[in-house]
Amino acid sequence: MNSLKHEGLGMTSRRTRNRLIQRLREEGIANEAVLKVMASTPRHLFLDEALAIRAYEDTSLPIGYGQTISQPFIVARMTELLLSRAKSRQRVLEIGTGCGYQAAILAQLVEKVYSVERILPLLEQARRRLRELGIFNVETQLSGGGFGWPEQGPFDAILVTAAPPEIPEELKQQLTPGGVMVLPVGSEQQFLTVVSRRADSDQFDLERSEAVRFVPLLGGVVK
Ligand code: SAH
Repeated sequence: MNSLKHEGLGMTSRRTRNRLIQRLREEGIANEAVLKVMASTPRHLFLDEALAIRAYEDTSLPIGYGQTISQPFIVARMTELLLSRAKSRQRVLEIGTGCGYQAAILAQLVEKVYSVERILPLLEQARRRLRELGIFNVETQLSGGGFGWPEQGPFDAILVTAAPPEIPEELKQQLTPGGVMVLPVGSEQQFLTVVSRRADSDQFDLERSEAVRFVPLLGGVVK
């Protein structure tokens, strides 16, 4: 990812990006591998051109169809949580491909990413962007159930980027023993939650982390 286009100019320049990374550090992101990948991944290429100048602000932004690209701090935090809890990072499922940014970050830190999205035009655009960036270890699928991708499971880790009101049982069942899921949970008030499946029994441990604001996890496909 070293071409001039990916490098960016002005508000998308390396200097602007480094300011964002510095800010993430100050806000408590400590995983150097995550920070490095976020510094080198051109977030502006996941946005419409009109919004590209805001790509390195620490804020969520609209991507069409009433959806958003997650705030960089939240992407970093969820990725960091997932990496620190996961025992293995061979197969990772993402729910909610959206523009593909979180998938691009994950793909550079784990072996293989499976990502599902319910809005076809978003999915097609994300596929194109990932290809253009030379990221080939992300497999995607249109999915409307909210229930992941059972045919490809079980997964070492699952990252959910839309909020269900409660932890979906179907997703817990797609975790390997020792597997971990990071997701926002709640409707009015949402909290980042880590669900860990015990390696030696069919039990799950829960950890509740900071308050967050995600679009809702919904059913049904949009074509
Ligand atoms: N991961 C994205 C965030 C996208 S916002 C990023 O990197 O910025 C959340 C996405 O989840 C939306 O695109 C929405 O359409 C999708 N979504 C919501 N419910 C879903 C479901 N049940 N299955 C798959 N995708 C879903």
